[in-house]
Amino acid sequence: MKGFSDPALAGAARRLSAAIQELAARLATQGKTVRIMEVCGTHTMAIARSGLRHLLPANLLLTSGPGCPVCVTGPGYIDAALEMADRGACIVTFGDLIRVPGSKIHLAEARARGGDIRVCYSPMEALRLAQEAPDRPVVFLAIGFETTAAPIIGMLDLALQAGVKNLFLLTAFKCVPPALTALIADPEIRIDAFLCPGHVSAIIGADAYRFVAETQRIPCVVAGFEPLDILLAIEGILTQRVSGEARVDNQYQRVVRPEGNHKIKQLMARYLIPADVDWRGIGVIPSSGLALRPEFRPYDAEAHFDLEVQPGRIHPDCQCGEVLKGKITPPECRLFRRGCHPDHPIGPCMVSSEGTCAAWFHYDPIGIPENRHG
Ligand code: SF4
Repeated sequence: MKGFSDPALAGAARRLSAAIQELAARLATQGKTVRIMEVCGTHTMAIARSGLRHLLPANLLLTSGPGCPVCVTGPGYIDAALEMADRGACIVTFGDLIRVPGSKIHLAEARARGGDIRVCYSPMEALRLAQEAPDRPVVFLAIGFETTAAPIIGMLDLALQAGVKNLFLLTAFKCVPPALTALIADPEIRIDAFLCPGHVSAIIGADAYRFVAETQRIPCVVAGFEPLDILLAIEGILTQRVSGEARVDNQYQRVVRPEGNHKIKQLMARYLIPADVDWRGIGVIPSSGLALRPEFRPYDAEAHFDLEVQPGRIHPDCQCGEVLKGKITPPECRLFRRGCHPDHPIGPCMVSSEGTCAAWFHYDPIGIPENRHG
């Protein structure tokens, strides 16, 4: 791990590292390895950036799951956005999506060819654009987990209040807890504990993972994003594994409450309903997405353009699906650094600032020894 400039933080990191080594050693004497999956792209990046993976004992494995919403969205979504741009829409998107490959081209390429595709930092920019050009359809690419869905729905709420009628959402919202259920049900994936996302949990609450701990006996720890937060969470997970317990620990109490954010959950429930949606590499997971309620269909881009998102075409050698399930690490994809790199991404995991392949490319290009892959 990179050094801490603050001696107090360095001391805390040393103490936590020592505790982790000791707990892992106790498990090792019983022949146990512990495979921890993080389902949050910000954790993926934080782990890679800090070099944490290399600091951990050999029987402790950190693996990345489907924690990047852009990565789990299929190429057909990009194709649909491109089609809407062709039909005269102004497309507004967060920057993460601009170079994610569709079946043939990405949004940046379409923009270079004259498509009106704008990158924004806030969904409010889409509302402003819609108000400035009321005769023109403006489509906001509404991709994200619960954390991102909240401000987008907040923006839609304001648009309705303002009487805006030319703003549409192309929704691909995803929810984390149903994805955990799908991962646990896959017999080819071994998960001994979940490092639960901090941002998402601020909305849905730490209690949202109780079913995992209580019915599956898999420890869950909600963590923040500093290296110390992650070390603390790992120590908490190992403590549960040593004692044979399985519960939800909230190590991010400065942000996350057990019940989440009631006000935001209420606002989202007013506009959105659970939907069965497709996750790249995993398939359709029941109630794992959020779609606009039927009464808000006039703001649904698919309905407005009478166009349904199709699966699209994935490069035959792309192994993003396997990476997203934690079945392989990025260097195990035959395209990693050989045809697929950030300047020429083949799969979304190499594009997104939260993508596992991008994290490994930038911070961990060599990877961990073979025997650490679990
Ligand atoms: S290296 Fe590229 S193609 Fe391979 S899994 Fe990663 S993003 Fe997908």
